[in-house]
Amino acid sequence: MKRVFSGFRPTGKQHIGNYFGAIQNCVALQDEYDCIYSVVDIHALTTMDSTSKLQEDIHEMVLDWLAAGIDPQKSIVFVQSHVPQITELNTLLGMITPLGWLLRVPTFKEKVRKQSHNVNYGLVGYPVLMTADIALYKGEYVPVGEDQLPHLELAREIVRRFNSIFGYVFPEPQAKLTSFPLILGSQGQEKMSKSYDNYLEIAASPEEISKWVMAAFTDPARRFRSDPGHPEVCNIFHLHQIFSPSRSEEIVQECRSAKIGCVDCKKVLARNISQFFEPFRERRNNLASRPDYVADVLADGASRAEAIAKETMREVEQKMGLMLRKYPE
Ligand code: SF4
Repeated sequence: MKRVFSGFRPTGKQHIGNYFGAIQNCVALQDEYDCIYSVVDIHALTTMDSTSKLQEDIHEMVLDWLAAGIDPQKSIVFVQSHVPQITELNTLLGMITPLGWLLRVPTFKEKVRKQSHNVNYGLVGYPVLMTADIALYKGEYVPVGEDQLPHLELAREIVRRFNSIFGYVFPEPQAKLTSFPLILGSQGQEKMSKSYDNYLEIAASPEEISKWVMAAFTDPARRFRSDPGHPEVCNIFHLHQIFSPSRSEEIVQECRSAKIGCVDCKKVLARNISQFFEPFRERRNNLASRPDYVADVLADGASRAEAIAKETMREVEQKMGLMLRKYPE
């Protein structure tokens, strides 16, 4: 099977944007590809002011992945820093990556603007570390959205440069384009994100779901119950299309004719979101009752990932002409 590599920054409990934007796709890919899913904690350090929640965030995120169907028997699930070869490959690829390539990256410029108090070395080297992640495990496909294609192109350039200078080691990673519905946050303006504090966690209880949905913005033109609505501009309706597909046509008619009020419309949505994630919540509770489960999965994942990483680094060192270490007989 071809190999897929995907890395995710540790963001704690996942929200429904994460679920439809990434997790669902990771689960689907497992049957067709040899999948490696990494929690990229070193990447997170480039923009983190404090690491006090880092371990908890990794634990909660992986628990969500496993409960949502990422199967550690089929896929390798591990934490980036648990495989030390990543830092070695990062350093070596850094030696062949022109600084100009990195300074041109639009997300670097954006991050410099956003965190001018902490423009660290890791921030400019972010694409090198990302390339090292994929290359260390000889990833052939990387699931990305259209907006991430330029990042992957840079990884491909770095890999190409290495292969042309030292000889072939790394496959050029190909984009596995994924399409997914845009999930907006509670204000219906920005995409759902922890940075905007507008998110709904997939592990939320029915009460929490109801509270979030009831507080979410709707069509601003619908000030009174008798005002006809415009479902096309209402985020509640967009969520209905995902969670209540069989009722969405009916909701369009009822909203436009003011036959249904926003409160009732939201109640239906809250119930459907809750039902959709009910099996997930049950699995999550079961897994959470086994205190060592996540740590055991990550330990096994790190061992399997490290075995691949060691092989790759042997090849890299040989091709680069580094003096190989002699071990006692
Ligand atoms: Fe939105 Fe539903 Fe209200 Fe229409 S009835 S504006 S779809 S919440």
